[in-house]
Amino acid sequence: MTNPHLGLVLAERGASYQLGDSQNQWVDVLVDGPGVQGLFTYRLPPDLSVNPGDVLSVPFGAQQMGAIAFQIADSPPPGLAPDKIREVEDVICRAFFPASYWLLLGRVAQYYCTPLMSVIRVALPPRLLGRSQRRIRLNPSALPNQADTFVGTTARQLLGLLQAQPDGDYSWQYLQRQVRGASRGLRELLKRGWVESYLEQPKPSRPKLRQAVTLATGMLSLELTGRQREVLEVLRRRGGDLWLTELLQISNASSSTIKALEQKGYVVIQQREILRTATEPRLAGDGAKALTRSQSQALEVINRLNGFAQVLLHGVTGSGKTEVYLQAIAPILEQGKSALVLVPEIGLTPQLTDRFRARFGNKVNVYHSALSDGERYDTWRQMLTGEPQVVIGTRSAIFAPLPQLGLIILDEEHDSSFKQDQPAPTYHARTVAQWRAELENCPLILGSATPSLETWVSVSTQHSALSTQQLEPSSYPVTLTSYLSLPERIHSRPMPPVEVVDMRQELQQGNRSIFSRSLQNALQQMQAKKQQGILFIHRRGHSTFVSCRSCGYVVECPHCDVSLSYHYTHEGAAELLRCHYCNYTRIHPRNCPECGSPYLKFFGSGTQRVAQELAKAFPNLRLIRFDSDTTRTKGAHRTLLTRFANGEADLLVGTQMLTKGLDLAQVTLVGVISADGLLNLADYRAAERAFQTLTQVAGRAGRGDDPGRVIIQTYSPQHPVIQAVQRHDYESFIQAELEQREALNYPPYGHLILFRLSGLDAAQVENAAEQLADWLGTTGLDYEILGPAPASIMRVARRYRWQILLKFSPDVSVELPDLNELRAICPKDVSLTIDVDPLNMM
Ligand code: ADP
Ligand code: ZN
Ligand code: ZN
Repeated sequence: MTNPHLGLVLAERGASYQLGDSQNQWVDVLVDGPGVQGLFTYRLPPDLSVNPGDVLSVPFGAQQMGAIAFQIADSPPPGLAPDKIREVEDVICRAFFPASYWLLLGRVAQYYCTPLMSVIRVALPPRLLGRSQRRIRLNPSALPNQADTFVGTTARQLLGLLQAQPDGDYSWQYLQRQVRGASRGLRELLKRGWVESYLEQPKPSRPKLRQAVTLATGMLSLELTGRQREVLEVLRRRGGDLWLTELLQISNASSSTIKALEQKGYVVIQQREILRTATEPRLAGDGAKALTRSQSQALEVINRLNGFAQVLLHGVTGSGKTEVYLQAIAPILEQGKSALVLVPEIGLTPQLTDRFRARFGNKVNVYHSALSDGERYDTWRQMLTGEPQVVIGTRSAIFAPLPQLGLIILDEEHDSSFKQDQPAPTYHARTVAQWRAELENCPLILGSATPSLETWVSVSTQHSALSTQQLEPSSYPVTLTSYLSLPERIHSRPMPPVEVVDMRQELQQGNRSIFSRSLQNALQQMQAKKQQGILFIHRRGHSTFVSCRSCGYVVECPHCDVSLSYHYTHEGAAELLRCHYCNYTRIHPRNCPECGSPYLKFFGSGTQRVAQELAKAFPNLRLIRFDSDTTRTKGAHRTLLTRFANGEADLLVGTQMLTKGLDLAQVTLVGVISADGLLNLADYRAAERAFQTLTQVAGRAGRGDDPGRVIIQTYSPQHPVIQAVQRHDYESFIQAELEQREALNYPPYGHLILFRLSGLDAAQVENAAEQLADWLGTTGLDYEILGPAPASIMRVARRYRWQILLKFSPDVSVELPDLNELRAICPKDVSLTIDVDPLNMM
């Protein structure tokens, strides 16, 4: 696309991402400044050598802008007159990014059929370069005596300015203002090596300042009051340095007490800049634990890895996988390298992060998409310094720009939140992690109690005649995975027994409560023994839907084909109905909008409903709701979990996010209110997901000294998933599941690509879907076309949704039709997204 105002071309080249040499004449760059972020092509001046990853300065409109060289090309993009293309001005900073980083982004764009720009948007914080400043400094060691006699006028002027400045260092902007035609002079000086050009990482635009209190003397005198002594004692115990707000909170003192201490000279209060990397409370240090036999066997294998290798660490819940990660990372840091740890959700990061912080202190940084732009930016800036560190984050952290990566870990690798469904790129962090580990030549550890089928087959390929090589396009062969196992819990603690309760029988025997008698007894016992428990509900919100008992009317979202959910916040608050797809909210009507009857009632059992029922049946039970409603605010996860860990509640009632990595020794009881919602999802992965979720939830019980127990309530106690969970039998479950997948050519054997279409006009979307499917049938390529079919929830946020699924059998290589042609067939008003290796078919 030509931009008529700028005479530039938006470059989206297809294939080659190879490194260029100085013979080539064109460079595709990412322009990244105030108001612009995009890919453009520039001409390279003959005497300037540029490599991918260099930061350049380029003309853009009337301005000079920062840009990152992405790829060098032999020819300009087609359709653009070469004389229209402007020239790169200069290289500001060489190898700002390692070239392998750009290879990675290019590969993601290619594999997931998406423009590179969309990958860059996930990977880079916005306006990365916009806030950076180019500076010039003298290189005194290279500077001969009377250097100024050898050079031209402008170069001489620049030298004069720089030599007059004590550090020999000025911003380029300043020099340009002082010297006419400064660029020419600078070229000359750079060529001689007398000055160098570099990119200064900018200060945060509004540095965040906070008051810190520092202990000034250890001497205590009699003039101090008891209160003042206490405050000093708190400060001393915490290492002599705390944020003022923290000190006030911890010591329960008033600010006047601290002011008084300052006046007497016992403490100093200062404004201090804080980097907006998510700061967490300081933690007591923690040393390496003596490992169990299986842990040390696993660690030994990991420590011996040299270069790229892929390892599955298959450890039952509570087997001490995290301790293995920690001890695998320690030597990496000692070698001056960094480690990247990916986790499924932010909900579990506070606890996990704490364990890493306790071990590695401030070498730990957290990076996830919920950070503010400022935090994201500061964390980035800090990663680029190359300081050895541990970065913990959710899926997008796979793009963290750590220059010296020594190890990548994916914890709970089976978790589907590692896959992005939308927007593009629809990447899977595990797949990207494999490429990244390969490019950086470092090991990748995949950890799980319930490994994904994908990972499982890559370990045990021999089991089938089909090689994993054929699962991926031939250019990215899958590497075989080594298998490490932690078959036992720490201290040989037993796996908790799983009791399955048939809810049909409960009803037959007159129990209409959502709690079986068994669960009621267990809750009573738990309370009597002062232990803690977790109740898992598959859905958030109060209930699944609200309907009229007289006429059957169901309150639905006006924009989506789903019923609204009832939300109860607190006594006396307005009762709300909310759509979980588009967030449409309305007040709960008193009477049925259809027939006027007052019997509008909610069904199902969301977290709110369970909490209310509990309050009725167990008035003394203290509970905390842990779901996406109660954890919406920043830091809420941490607060709720800390309160629970401190024993401020007996029961944690929550959804999916409870299943992930919680390690709470006091939890003895785990109850699953209803497993049925999980079992009956319309998705070929439903069984795998249900098994993983139930096993993970069950795994929260009995991790401490007291033995645990698990109660699963269901209407289908004979379901193979329930049976396998009850027996803690991963292997025979997965074997049966793999056979089914293989028979139907589903992943991990076959390969899927999903086309999602959506638009405001129902007929138009349907027509488009049919046309695309017809066209896909004429390409002569080797795939099966499923659909077009309406998505299982056909309308979301007023948009109608259709989909087409391509299925490649395992014995063919995945060859895609011309996607540009495909996109061209799709009308403008219908949006088309391509989901490669889709996980969520809804
Ligand atoms: P997983 O991640 O496999 O579920 P964790 O790493 O959370 O298991 O370990 C479970 C518990 O056992 C944690 O509280 C951890 O501190 C403890 N633990 C792990 N390894 C050891 C060890 N070698 N000795 C003693 N305790 C350990
Ligand atoms: Zn009605
Ligand atoms: Zn809606």
